[in-house]
Amino acid sequence: MRIPLIAGNWKLYKTIAESVALVNELKPLVENSAGVQIVVAPVFTALSRVFDATEGSQIKLAAQDCYWEEEGAFTGEVAPKLLKDAGCSYVIIGHSERRQYFGETDVTVNKKTKAAVAAGLDAIVCVGESLAERESEQTFSVIEKQIQGGLAGLSAEAFSHVVIAYEPVWAIGTGKTASDAQAQEVHAFIRQLVVRLFGQAVADSVRILYGGSVKPENVKGLMSQPDIDGALVGGASLKAESFAAICSFNS
Ligand code: PEP
Repeated sequence: MRIPLIAGNWKLYKTIAESVALVNELKPLVENSAGVQIVVAPVFTALSRVFDATEGSQIKLAAQDCYWEEEGAFTGEVAPKLLKDAGCSYVIIGHSERRQYFGETDVTVNKKTKAAVAAGLDAIVCVGESLAERESEQTFSVIEKQIQGGLAGLSAEAFSHVVIAYEPVWAIGTGKTASDAQAQEVHAFIRQLVVRLFGQAVADSVRILYGGSVKPENVKGLMSQPDIDGALVGGASLKAESFAAICSFNS
């Protein structure tokens, strides 16, 4: 009942021309990936042109961040409604790189998530523990705090437009993937948290993505876990061939 979602986070890579070229290369490769939703998240400047390039395909567009105000004197920020205007269906919120380098907190994640959903976007809300937190057995308490803080005050209807991405920080861009069992354990914990916060039916339908060095070689094992509903992919989404192979995990 949960349609798998594979999202490519292109981070701060690729010009407009390179982004459009990547989508054009990707389109024929994923044309037969039935039953999977595919999302790409280019840099802000490429969004609109990438959206045009996705036309006629099943590829949806995401931004990598947003602000929570609709408009105003907020130099440098981009409002959710402007992302919608550029063709986005999704926005990634609270990525660990934003938490680490740009002062993102659970409070700002919460404001951004509410604003994104109110503007008609689906929010991919990222959570995940650092290596030190895992080693000191704080994984579950960290995830609980991030989810409770990041999703505080959302109605069940608003939450139906949220996708959660579990991305252990120690696995992002490091080549170290959580084992299938490690990822499943945290995904199951997150789903139980959602039962507590929003009820069983909502928890049964929310998609929980895994992120952290997902590659064509490890995606099948991860996706075979009962609570893993997709992947947020960084490095391996920058090449059409590897991203398409990940999107075809079920073939
Ligand atoms: C990410 O950017 O969210 C990510 C998971 O990166 P990578 O796949 O490169 O670890």
